[in-house]
Parts: sequence; structure tokens; C-alpha cells
Amino acid sequence: MTLLADDPTAAAVLSAVPCYPVPPHGRSPALDALRAARTGHGLAIGNDGVMLILRRAWLALDVPLTPPISAYLPYGSAGEPRADLRCGLIPREHLVSILEHFYAALPNEAAGFVVWNEATKAFSLHFPAIDEATPSRLVYRTPVLAPDWHVVCDIHSHGSGRAFFSATDDADDADATKIAIVIGRLDHADGLEMASRLCANGLFLAVPRSPFSGDDDAA
Ligand SMILES: [Zn+2]
Repeated sequence: MTLLADDPTAAAVLSAVPCYPVPPHGRSPALDALRAARTGHGLAIGNDGVMLILRRAWLALDVPLTPPISAYLPYGSAGEPRADLRCGLIPREHLVSILEHFYAALPNEAAGFVVWNEATKAFSLHFPAIDEATPSRLVYRTPVLAPDWHVVCDIHSHGSGRAFFSATDDADDADATKIAIVIGRLDHADGLEMASRLCANGLFLAVPRSPFSGDDDAA
């Protein structure tokens, strides 16, 4: 068999993030293993483009990275995009609890995490240690979780400000795999604002539907 790389470091990198051509009929043992993995990511090269396949204990994400490849390739389709919560929908009461926490912190910004236990399948909340909180600035620590626990949602408030992802938020989220949510205008009579995105492998993706139970509208 021809090696993918003759340098051990390069070979390790290519093995950690593999890249597989898609056979004409669409499946291969290597792609099936990547899709079934508990955690990891890699690329599928189809005639319809390059697909990022990313797995976490709580997330199954297949997202196209490129448009269809215009050159003729004797490959199959990389498949349909998906973004599925392996952990299931988050019980809505957790969002309610976080909002209560945010209201109590006004006029300051605040933050809360929805975490999920892979072994027990239980969701829980984690309120981080806050280093600094003002109406326009929040410095908090990403939780260090016990084994089996995963951050699913990182939610912070912008107090009475608009809900949007700031340059600081972009920098904070660049390396994470999580659903990021910003809540704004908490004190407005018209109701609060919410912005959400799925952060994965340096991508910021639209959240196709609310991750919370009992909420059919997109967040
Ligand atoms: Zn922010």
C-alpha cells in the first residue's frame, strides 16, 4: 500500500483528520466509521463537493465546505448535510433558568452553560466564575468539566444591548464546538432578542432549528 505521507508527523496529521473519496455508490467502510465515530472529524470528497464530517458525543454534523466540483470525478455524492443533536433537545426549563439568571444580573452581562453527561444522558446548568461583569463587558471562565460532561450551549447576555456576536465573541468561539447563543434587550418592553450559531471547527453555522424542547421556531 502506498503511504499517504512519508513523514511520521505528516502521517499523524492526515490520520487524525482523514480525507476520503466517496465511492460511486456513496458509502465506504472508512466513511461509515468516520460518521459513526464518537468524536473526530474528517473530509469526504464527493462529485458534489467536499463535506466536513464532524462528530462529538453530543453532535453529528455533516456540512458542505465547497460548491460541487465542476471537473468530472468518478465519485459518488458526499451526501446530505445534517446537524443533529445526538444528545437530543435541551429541556426548555434550562433556558428559562438561564434567562432568570440573566435578569437577576441586570444591568450587567452574565453567562451560563448547558452541559450534558454522555454516560447518564442528563442535562445540567453550569454558571461560570465571573472575573469581570459590567453592562457592556463580561469576562468569564470556560468551565473545566468532569469526565463525561460536555458543553452543548454557551449562552451569554448583552444585558439591555442588542443580541449579536461581537468581535470578542468571534475570537472566543473560534476554537470551540458548541452552540453559542447571545440574549439581548432583556429589559425591553418588546421582548428580548436572541442570536444563535453553531460553532464547529472554525465555522460559524446557522442553527436550523431551536435546540430547546417545546420551541418549534428557529432560535
Ligand atoms: Zn457577546
